[in-house]
Amino acid sequence: MEDMDNKKFDVGLGSHPDLIKHLGLLSRIGIWEHISKLEKKLNEHQKMLGILEELFRQRTIIDLVTFISSKIMDSFVPNHLAFLIKEADAEDKLSTLCFKNLQMIEDPMKITSLEPFRKVFDEERTILPFDFFKDRVEDEEAELIKAMEKIEPDFLVPLMGMGGTYGLIIVGRKVVGSGYSYEELDYIQKILTFASVSLTNTLHYRWSIVDSKTDLFEHDFFMQRLKEEISRSERYAQPLSLLMLDIDHFKDCNDTYGHLAGDKVLQEMARLLKMALRKGDIAARFGGEEFVVLLVQCEHTEALKIAERIRLMIRQMSVFFQNQEIKVTVSIGISGNHSGNSLDPQTLIDQADKALYQSKKNGRNQCTLF
Ligand code: GH3
Ligand code: MG
Ligand code: MG
Repeated sequence: MEDMDNKKFDVGLGSHPDLIKHLGLLSRIGIWEHISKLEKKLNEHQKMLGILEELFRQRTIIDLVTFISSKIMDSFVPNHLAFLIKEADAEDKLSTLCFKNLQMIEDPMKITSLEPFRKVFDEERTILPFDFFKDRVEDEEAELIKAMEKIEPDFLVPLMGMGGTYGLIIVGRKVVGSGYSYEELDYIQKILTFASVSLTNTLHYRWSIVDSKTDLFEHDFFMQRLKEEISRSERYAQPLSLLMLDIDHFKDCNDTYGHLAGDKVLQEMARLLKMALRKGDIAARFGGEEFVVLLVQCEHTEALKIAERIRLMIRQMSVFFQNQEIKVTVSIGISGNHSGNSLDPQTLIDQADKALYQSKKNGRNQCTLF
């Protein structure tokens, strides 16, 4: 009787006289067990909601992937966990993040295309056991299956978006114990279903602000950031500089080596720009073969030094395309606000453009300060 009183107290039903009168009956029909099961379920849902809230707060793909991995590994450790993610909207370019026992490792699979997965998942649109996937594709995809088996997959979760399959999460076998229980699969499925929504959201946003050819920001996003950075520099009376770069005689480069070679030059230049910049600086592809770089907290004399360094790095850069070595040079224009001076974004751009024009006029492959 004392035990029953505790249960009644636990589930918060108080001590209504009717309840006390029918305590025996309620106990016999298992009402307390039922209520405590419901309570357990409620707790699980509350925990899941907390996880989802945190999931949707993650801003970048890498943060998301790390968070998802940690939540899966909190409950059980798959020997491997791999995320295959479509990098750009237009191209079928993949990046793979692979974890082994909580550590990020180099991807042993080297899968380059989502096409074989698309064939299956555009139709199924749901989590699938690896064996099922294997049966569906085995004949034509023996190589792919062999590569995937390196991480001992147990099941596959597609990342579905409006444009079809954007990626895949591969969950490996459990390190300890036998296969996944029904509850574990249910937990993984719930987290990964929402994770896939969040990942596709993040991807869509990224694709909308990043130029797919060079992986640098696009013009419109840059203008938005420029506005924000100018306000910030005025508020804190800090200097800010702008570089505008244009490849010299790039039309000749295309004419001599072909458009694809030209594309590779653009990509290599973008890579070099990213490498040359400090955290907080922003590089963007402003137009065809024109780039802009915003240097925050940077006086224009310092900006001139940085521009000169970039110009030299590009002059020394060799791009190889079909065994041909391609060399290019750039002309650069520099503008800046002096601490506290207010300047609107368009003026800053126009001044850098004028300085760039001067660099071209004076013979190219040089930097000019407005
Ligand atoms: P200048 O030294 O005066 O800048 O000469 P330029 O030849 O670089 O300038 P122009 O504006 O005449 O030519 C720019 C060229 O850039 C023409 C265009 O085909 C090429 N271009 C623009 N976008 C791309 C691209 O995405 N890929 C490739 N391969 N070429 C591009
Ligand atoms: Mg140009
Ligand atoms: Mg040019």
